[in-house]
Amino acid sequence: MDIFNEIYRDIDESVIIKEEKKYIMNTYGRLPVVLIRGNGVYVEDVKGKRYLDFISGIGVNSIGHCNPKLIENVKKQLEILIHVSNLYYTIPQVKLAKKLAHLSGLDKVFFSNSGAEANEGAIKLARKYGKKMGVGEGEIITMERGFHGRTLATLTATSKVEYQKGFEPLPKGFKYVPFNDLDKLMESISNKTTGIMIEPIQGEGGIHVADKEYLKGVRDICDDKGILLIFDEVQCGIGRTGKMFAYQHYDIKPDILTLAKALGGGIPIGATISKEEVAHVFTPGSHGSTFGGNPLACVSAYVTLSIVEDLLTHVEEMGEYFMRKLRNLQSKYSFIKEVRGIGLMIGMELSFQGKDVVKKMLEKGYLINCTAENVLRFLPPLIVEKEHIDVLVDTLDEVFSEVEV
Ligand SMILES: *Cc1c(COP(=O)(O)O)cnc(C)c1O
Repeated sequence: MDIFNEIYRDIDESVIIKEEKKYIMNTYGRLPVVLIRGNGVYVEDVKGKRYLDFISGIGVNSIGHCNPKLIENVKKQLEILIHVSNLYYTIPQVKLAKKLAHLSGLDKVFFSNSGAEANEGAIKLARKYGKKMGVGEGEIITMERGFHGRTLATLTATSKVEYQKGFEPLPKGFKYVPFNDLDKLMESISNKTTGIMIEPIQGEGGIHVADKEYLKGVRDICDDKGILLIFDEVQCGIGRTGKMFAYQHYDIKPDILTLAKALGGGIPIGATISKEEVAHVFTPGSHGSTFGGNPLACVSAYVTLSIVEDLLTHVEEMGEYFMRKLRNLQSKYSFIKEVRGIGLMIGMELSFQGKDVVKKMLEKGYLINCTAENVLRFLPPLIVEKEHIDVLVDTLDEVFSEVEV
């Protein structure tokens, strides 16, 4: 029997939902919909209902679902080589690293498979650098409301206690300060500090944008004290904000940059990128990843970056248009507390929990998300057009008009 047919046989929605409960560990509160295919800005469920996707797999499917250029090139790579080990050289890995170095203004890349891994790599690199160069005692300062992943080190780097509860003992050497507060950061720096890790635009925490003077101030402090500045751009990087990297809005550069989510266009890949001055502390045996930088993921990422390079102006335009339309809604409904973001990374803070709005939008055929309890999060594919924004906003208006407050 055809194996693909075997997988896609018996695809009754209720059976899939029931068997998910039975066979998958219960770590996600899923919405009751089984998605089966995607095309551009749309996805479709098993019943044939179409949804306009304004979350893009949490900022992963930036070039849209099943982008033809991506498929064409990934297919070609699938047919010649999927994986060998990092015991050997492969061409896509080197070409992708070169492209990332050029785009970021940094020098060297370590490839992994996810955001958490990219951050683990950054933490390890920073600590190794600190030890070698005599910078601090390995302590990494991170921001309140930040999010850096779910591995032990990255959930400890994530200040929110809910993520940490039950997983003690946690790794040592992390400390949290309020975001956008230079004085508090200054106070918390000591001779233990090796690095500062920041999302230039906090994603999971509710779409909070770093102030210009703040981020420049952090850069100055790091330069002054020789501390490493790590930017976690797992969510805000790769064109999401209208520039390839969010830090390019600030005229500064990090010492270490982490990427994942949108980087592979849907194929898992993470990257830890740094200046040569920092990168050189990694030597054979320092760090590793079996899958990291495999040819398939690297071709996918290379194609994705090429497509995103041509979308940046479009993202800026669509972001401004979307923001304007959401602000119009804000003037209509007093329960919309704030609309904030850059480019196509936008949050709308409500004065009540957003999960019912998300559900109602789903019923009407729109995928949006709510984070930090009351912030509607919009991360549409970067290929989104005005007509999609218009219908999304009209439908949101409809849902809001039924809200009783
Ligand atoms: C999603 C995310 C991560 C974790 O990425 P995973 O691929 O889920 O491990 C880390 N940092 C930020 C800013 C993220 O948004």
